[in-house]
Amino acid sequence: MTTHESPTGTRRHTSDPATASADHTVSVDLSGRTALVTGAASGIGRACALRLAAAGAHVRLVDVDGEALAALGVGEPLEIDLTDLDAAEAAGRGADVVVNNAGVQTVAPVQDFPTDRFSLMLRLMVEAPFRTVRGALPHMYARGWGRVVNISSVHGLRASPYKSAYVTAKHGLEGFSKVVALEGAEHGVTSNCVDPGYVRTPLVEHQIAEQARAHGIPEDRVIDEVLLARSPVKRLVEPEEVAELVAFLCAREASFISGASLPVDGAWTAS
Ligand code: NAD
Repeated sequence: MTTHESPTGTRRHTSDPATASADHTVSVDLSGRTALVTGAASGIGRACALRLAAAGAHVRLVDVDGEALAALGVGEPLEIDLTDLDAAEAAGRGADVVVNNAGVQTVAPVQDFPTDRFSLMLRLMVEAPFRTVRGALPHMYARGWGRVVNISSVHGLRASPYKSAYVTAKHGLEGFSKVVALEGAEHGVTSNCVDPGYVRTPLVEHQIAEQARAHGIPEDRVIDEVLLARSPVKRLVEPEEVAELVAFLCAREASFISGASLPVDGAWTAS
């Protein structure tokens, strides 16, 4: 049986022996919903934007890279620097789904970590998500339905050397996500973190040189010896695999999943 949810909360069931192979599949129907995706121009955010648009959502795409947003060919591109926190909050207003995804990485030992970069990363990866959600919640509460999905990381659950700002920010995001889950429960709003291992995106490609420097090894050894060292499944995650979980968290069938941290990490955090 396939269950579709409409924005009004009515349910439609189909059970057809001719489509038996489709039994028990989840169909995510977000028609009539507005979904905000931050960092939508690249990598995981891009995959989430395309997936939520395919589910029927009107997707509000936020990124500093306006040209790449326009090239996506779906949704409503909004060129915004999310470190402008008032702009971040305004982008959240009226959204039924918020995917807090925008993030950056810097790899350096604590004693050398640039202090302004540390501040910027916490602003972008903790304060901006607080503000997008702050902007969206009144609308979600009024409709009695909402989905907050925070793209955290295995580094929201575990630490690695040389990533002090990133690990601090992601642990902060995990805490914020749980508080939203508690406050949103009585309003039909869920909040979860998705925690990927290393995903094949520009963010990972750009850190290979920094990782090589920090660990004192050649760049061609970074993926196997640093990035995948703690992952029992020895491959990078694809952005579409992360986006599929994000879409599932927006389905009616996921309404009891809230306050959770869901690894997509090839068993990294199991060890
Ligand atoms: P990416 O670099 O491919 O994309 C990030 C996007 O965020 C870019 O389009 C960039 O322009 C945008 N962005 C950066 N600063 C911004 C700002 N100030 N305002 C608006 N937009 C801004 O990165 P990705 O790998 O897709 O990462 C997306 C998220 O997933 C990040 O939060 C990251 O921490 C998380 N994550 C990534 C991985 C990975 O291995 N790639 C693993 C775990 C978690």
